Amino acid sequence: MENTTKTCRNCGASNFYSKEVSLVGHASTILPIGMFTRREVHLRVCGTCGLMEWFVAPATLEKLKQKFAKVP
Ligand SMILES: [Zn+2]
Repeated sequence: MENTTKTCRNCGASNFYSKEVSLVGHASTILPIGMFTRREVHLRVCGTCGLMEWFVAPATLEKLKQKFAKVP
């Protein structure tokens, strides 16, 4: 992810742990983009303070753009 910050916005550390995950079950309602649409997200957790950030994966992001309103 090139467009993410290299240091934690909470504590300034730069040791992150990340994982690509699929939101399923109740978690899928976080992104209302259609009942059967896969929701891939990239999780990044700061190894120092534990701050967790979610990044919608590119393929999921394209689907999201069709369902969400663009902020003017
Ligand atoms: Zn941190």
